[in-house]
Amino acid sequence: MPMYEFTCRACGAEYEELCTAAEAAAGKVACPACGARKSERKLSTFASKDAGSGGGGGGCGHSSHGGFG
Ligand SMILES: [Zn+2]
Repeated sequence: MPMYEFTCRACGAEYEELCTAAEAAAGKVACPACGARKSERKLSTFASKDAGSGGGGGGCGHSSHGGFG
């Protein structure tokens, strides 16, 4: 399970929690400081939300190699 960073909207505490992506998105993580489940997931520094799908290009050539016989 990945670790996500959360910010408690109740007390403002910042903490990390191991949970699934679904739980993190739903904010169902209890704050260890006050116990409120109003956690807001912080944006990861390494995961850019504005990431465009790069790549592509390059020719894909399949050349048959005749070699019967
Ligand atoms: Zn809290």
